[in-house]
Amino acid sequence: MTQEDWREIGEQMTGQSPLAILTWAYEQFGSRVTLASSFGLEDVALIDMASRIVPEPDVFMLDTDLLFHETYATMRAVESRYRLKFRRIRPDLSLQAQAEQYGEELWARDPNLCCQLRKVIPLNRALAGYAAWITGIRREQSPTRAHARAVEWDQTHSLVKVNPLVLWSTEEVWQWVREHQVPYNPLHDQGFPSIGCMPCTRAIKPGEDLRAGRWSGFDKKECGLHL
Ligand code: SF4
Repeated sequence: MTQEDWREIGEQMTGQSPLAILTWAYEQFGSRVTLASSFGLEDVALIDMASRIVPEPDVFMLDTDLLFHETYATMRAVESRYRLKFRRIRPDLSLQAQAEQYGEELWARDPNLCCQLRKVIPLNRALAGYAAWITGIRREQSPTRAHARAVEWDQTHSLVKVNPLVLWSTEEVWQWVREHQVPYNPLHDQGFPSIGCMPCTRAIKPGEDLRAGRWSGFDKKECGLHL
């Protein structure tokens, strides 16, 4: 398949329902597709949907050691609800080793490097051996995601990226989560539409962009996973 082929498939798939897109992904890639979860609202909705299609969807999370305790609790609740065990991918450096090598609180001085060490490099490990990954990207989330398609060729990681929720609104995701009583991160009820690491996430104010609470004070809106 060429990149052009994937572009055509992406255009055909964009507009189909998330369940149809996910079903296509599991039919196409079988056990060689993995679902990326940071246990945000989109991710828990996707895990619920995937569990309706395959008995044990492969799910991984990037554990930076800096996540909110609510996020770890959500992960355990989702594992328990769906009887799954998620792959927990850790950075090569512990927080202490990172501080010794790069100085204390690297995220406050160079968040790009910190994300590279604690997310981007571990993501490469998480995706090794897979043909496709599923993400919770939605066009509405930010201008950088406004042109995302349901299926894309991921040039950076050399595999297919599947974004089943790409056209959904925040309300549609909430509707799925509520209707199916999916466990979700309680921080969403406290003004956190997008939840990452503790030092780099704040609640947003009314009218702010959905990702305005990420890396507040820096000209940075993506951790590098979706660039
Ligand atoms: S989100 Fe912040 S703390 Fe987490 S890896 Fe990126 S810079 Fe580091």
